[in-house]
Amino acid sequence: MQPRDLSDHVAYEAGRGIEEVARELDRDPSTFVKLASNENPHGPSPAATEAIRETASSVSSYPKAAHADLVAAIADRWTVEPKQVWLANGGDGAIDYLHRATLEPGESILVPTPGFAYYGMSARFHHGEISEYPLSTDDDFAQSAEDILEAYDGERIVWLTSPHNPSGSTISLSEIERLAEETTDETLVVVDEAYGEFADRESATALLEGRDGFDARDDVAVLRTFSKAYGLAGIRLGYAVVPEAWADAYTRVNTPFAASELACRAGLAAIDDDEHVDLTVETAREAREYMREAIDAHVWPSEGNFVLADVGDAAAVADAMQRRGVIVRDCSSFGLPECIRITCGTDAETNRAVDTLNEVLADLDLETDGADADAEREVPDT
Ligand SMILES: *Cc1c(COP(=O)(O)O)cnc(C)c1O
Repeated sequence: MQPRDLSDHVAYEAGRGIEEVARELDRDPSTFVKLASNENPHGPSPAATEAIRETASSVSSYPKAAHADLVAAIADRWTVEPKQVWLANGGDGAIDYLHRATLEPGESILVPTPGFAYYGMSARFHHGEISEYPLSTDDDFAQSAEDILEAYDGERIVWLTSPHNPSGSTISLSEIERLAEETTDETLVVVDEAYGEFADRESATALLEGRDGFDARDDVAVLRTFSKAYGLAGIRLGYAVVPEAWADAYTRVNTPFAASELACRAGLAAIDDDEHVDLTVETAREAREYMREAIDAHVWPSEGNFVLADVGDAAAVADAMQRRGVIVRDCSSFGLPECIRITCGTDAETNRAVDTLNEVLADLDLETDGADADAEREVPDT
């Protein structure tokens, strides 16, 4: 007896954890900083921590009221109907629900490359196919309706990531509107705003609601998560905001009790903790500007809580940084073997990452110069 043919499926490669790296290098975990998974350097909202503590003794009950309360709070925030909010086990869970609700076997989604691996993985689980549209290092990973439409061939979902992981580029609401306008009635445009809080842009929920001068649309959905700005990655809480016509599909595709009691209570506390989100966003904005200025390599402009840097040999640089105690993301698995992604840390963490990276780049430069000199010496002088 075997599982079905999973040879097309690839395992998700998460950023490496401190424990894992420290054990491998036989070092004290407390001497490392991890800036590899775009987590919140300030930890969870203190209000959420308190709510989790308070909820601990009541986790013997299934979550019902908490789920309804959180959905109501989120609906309020985006001025949509509660049934348009699809709560899920992380943003990843919401990606699954959208695919479940959309894809017939063999139907396709269109995703950015480089891009977030889980769109494709999830579509495969749901017997879907994947097509890609390219984003290019040469024009700073610019995202435009025109370029995406060039690759578009009637896919059921077009995935946009704004801000984009791993580059930090964004797409404007008018471009998203144009894309939705020019794709067929059978296509849903989903805007993944996992890093939306960090960007200086309006949420694409404006297109669903018809806010800010846009006509209300029934072919756009938005994905959001509590993992990044709210610092709740470990609790697994995210959601999709879907068109009104889609609302009822949720009850047909969701896992019973899609988000846990702890997650819902933490989310409810965190969503009102503006102070923590503001501090988080401010730290990220300063850190990403500082990294662009101070790193001795090309760093792309980013609207997320991370930056992408062109370091030449990502595997070598990430490895050397790790040995010096700073864990960053080697972007080879994104198809960018020359780039690393560095999460914005606290001021001290970001400073250490910049100093470490610049040291590593200088050392590697010396080594290459040395190698070049050796190579030259071997050239016969005839
Ligand atoms: C982190 C992330 C998500 C969702 O993460 P969850 O922890 O599952 O909420 C979704 N999209 C992108 C691009 C991300 O980087």
